[in-house]
Amino acid sequence: MANLLKADSRDEIYLANCLRAISENHEFITEEQISDKTFDLLTPLPSEIADAFYEKYKTSPAAATDYFYTLMCDNNYVKTEAIAKNRLFYYASQYGELEITINLSKPEKDPKAIAAALSAPKPAPGEEPYPKCQLCMENEGYFGRHDHPSRSNLRIIPVELGEENWGFQYSPYAYYNEHTILLNTQHIPMKIDRRAFTNLLLLLDFLPHYMFGSNTDIPIVGGSILSHDHYQGGRHIFPMMKAEIVETVDFKAFPEISVGIVNWPMTVLRLEGADKEQLVLAAMQILTKWKQFSLPELDINALDENGVQHHAITPIAYKSDKGYILDLVLRDNNVSEEHPDGIFHPHQEKHHIKKENIGLIEVMGLAILPPRLDTLVPLLQAYLSGNASLATLPIEHQPWAEETKKAGETSAESAIGVIFTAILEDAGVFKWDEEGRKGLRAFVGFMQ
Ligand SMILES: [Zn+2]
Repeated sequence: MANLLKADSRDEIYLANCLRAISENHEFITEEQISDKTFDLLTPLPSEIADAFYEKYKTSPAAATDYFYTLMCDNNYVKTEAIAKNRLFYYASQYGELEITINLSKPEKDPKAIAAALSAPKPAPGEEPYPKCQLCMENEGYFGRHDHPSRSNLRIIPVELGEENWGFQYSPYAYYNEHTILLNTQHIPMKIDRRAFTNLLLLLDFLPHYMFGSNTDIPIVGGSILSHDHYQGGRHIFPMMKAEIVETVDFKAFPEISVGIVNWPMTVLRLEGADKEQLVLAAMQILTKWKQFSLPELDINALDENGVQHHAITPIAYKSDKGYILDLVLRDNNVSEEHPDGIFHPHQEKHHIKKENIGLIEVMGLAILPPRLDTLVPLLQAYLSGNASLATLPIEHQPWAEETKKAGETSAESAIGVIFTAILEDAGVFKWDEEGRKGLRAFVGFMQ
């Protein structure tokens, strides 16, 4: 239990937030805020947890994360009960088994809270909100308000990455086992560069039993928060990590690094080696070259007429027998008249299933689908089995359902798996047809 008398300088943010909870004028307090605050009072101070974490780390990194993760579940920061409601199923695609989650864990917003938000005072122009964003360190112990989630029971472990200070926490509504978020202690924008590749590999030295990755640093082809530098990770082997190499690439400048093209709907180059510095240099060369590579006949354009950069990489790092693996996923966020939401983004005819960005987690083969699909699955199953008419399905799904049935599909889950596979193929820059392979060979030549 928190003992305020033991507090030290590392508890400064937490203690300031406790005082804020009392002094800020809350017009409407949610059940979640009260529940989180109650659990907070039963949770040790941030400094006590950090000390215990690093004490257990001496035994093993896994002992440290086991302690911290269990604590964050026990104090209800990780909402295990809500997460258990998610529907999960698998689909055997030509790229291996994909994982599909229908997200039912995030609570619906309380209508009274929505009303309170409408009448609440807005920050004056030029005034910065506190915390600046949901990924700032100032969230540790923050009580929350109508437009910012409750974080009373959040605890963050300080981590040194090279010369930088970072924070390590778990995600409250996890999509996979021990879903981790790494936060820069500074509120600075995301940037995929040499530093980011280095940090991902350093994280593997820190927690070798986890994988780590990052969204890109440009819109459409990445995550939802570009304004705060962060990575994600966890204790899960994603489908993409199990996908095989179909072709090896001779990367002449880096003979110690093995490079291969992965059998995956998106374009993935897999780098493997024991030397972190060589891996980072090789990844930087591929990133630099990708930012210069265009192939207009395949709608691949690094820069537009205004000089805006449209190419980026989604990197994923994990340990292997030979040392480290860095999977680099090539991304392009151009739009066109035909695809106003993105050329390499789920295409319009699939928006009835998913229209959101294909971020890090989905890139790796774990679909996160909206809750509305939960009611669709049984309805679609009844229709595909001949027990219900097409009219029983929501209208936006009908053309697809009809086509799916005509194609002989009998399983609703498999029909959703087919469409998720096609969504990932939409997001792939070099397709698996002859033109696409030719294009990828051209890039592999260019990156040398
Ligand atoms: Zn921030």
